[in-house]
Amino acid sequence: MPNARFDLRARDLLSGLSETRQLKAFHELIGPLGATAKIAGVGEAIVLCSNNYLGLADHPEVIEAGHEGLRKYGAGTASVRFICGTLQCHRELEASIAKLVGTAAALSYVSCWCANEAVFPTLVGPNDAILSDELNHASIIDGIRLVNKQAERGVYKHNDLADLEAKLKATREKEVRWVVTDGVFSMEGDVAPLPEIIKLCREYEAMLVVDDSHGIGALGATGRGTPEHFGVLGQIDVITGTLGKALGGAAGGYVAASPDAISVLEQRGRPSLFSNAVPATVAMSARKAIEVLEREPERATRLHANVKTLREGFKKLGFEVHDSPTAIIPLMIGDEAEAIAKSKRLLELGVLVIGFGFPVVPKGKARLRVQVSAALSDDHITQALDAFSKL
Ligand SMILES: *Cc1c(COP(=O)(O)O)cnc(C)c1O
Repeated sequence: MPNARFDLRARDLLSGLSETRQLKAFHELIGPLGATAKIAGVGEAIVLCSNNYLGLADHPEVIEAGHEGLRKYGAGTASVRFICGTLQCHRELEASIAKLVGTAAALSYVSCWCANEAVFPTLVGPNDAILSDELNHASIIDGIRLVNKQAERGVYKHNDLADLEAKLKATREKEVRWVVTDGVFSMEGDVAPLPEIIKLCREYEAMLVVDDSHGIGALGATGRGTPEHFGVLGQIDVITGTLGKALGGAAGGYVAASPDAISVLEQRGRPSLFSNAVPATVAMSARKAIEVLEREPERATRLHANVKTLREGFKKLGFEVHDSPTAIIPLMIGDEAEAIAKSKRLLELGVLVIGFGFPVVPKGKARLRVQVSAALSDDHITQALDAFSKL
């Protein structure tokens, strides 16, 4: 039955978005995602907007591992983890994740979104306080919304240690304090100052949670993420992350922490008690992606070299580029319509880059967000910079 009130509301929203040119068009890919992708109705373009940081999404061994998962375990278990939904390949994947990120245990989820919706409501108690960076990812914000209503919530200014310390001081009487930050911030491409945050957490006896979705695979000499970049591997209490970016790029997420914290999540976390696990195909291909990352640290080296070349190239072309080690390079444009027009022009020139505007970033701070991959050859980079020079 059509509902006139709902239809009106939906049409209002959509026509509003269309008028302000905020309506997103989805590109349809007709093949795997690599350094380039074939886009329906457009043709082949160099990809400068995916999280495929190590170029593993179309890696033959990663693809074959997915096939093997399907053959060995079938399509799925038709059951949640504690009933009959835990496969041997889940446990093997979880052991590799824990080893990679430097914790004693890990638990996998269908996405990092789910991991963040599990970790906060399950681990944070009613007499606790949780302090979150103002630029943290939407899944952290929503995860914190699910925490017990009595718990105190605080938001500290982005990467502002003085503000964080003031909020730690103000919550001294709380049972457990939690500090939550992204490792790499997805819109700015900057990193959280982990050594200083760890120092504050030790001084004020707070637990530190780092979502390293954009850091894992991309940062650190061997791709073990933001903690490796800062030389603090093994010093983070709880790490969450995704398998849907550098680690194969399909889907899936994880929480990595102490064996007790992981057991509490297994016993009490609603997303895994009431919802199925990551499919065997994805678990097997993600585990293979980790194996390739560990066996071929030159992929991380190549990514870091590509990041350097592109950052320098953009600076030479006159773009305002902040210094940062991450594979996310926001090119500030300011006006939203202009950012969208530029991304359209780049696609005509064979380069896929997305323009981001309000509400994803503040008004007047529209940007082209460039993301770098180890899959890009020198030729791809030269061609891409050439396209930017024509803007
Ligand atoms: C991408 C991202 C997520 C979501 O990951 P999914 O596995 O796709 O749900 C969560 N947190 C951060 C910081 C991210 O960048």
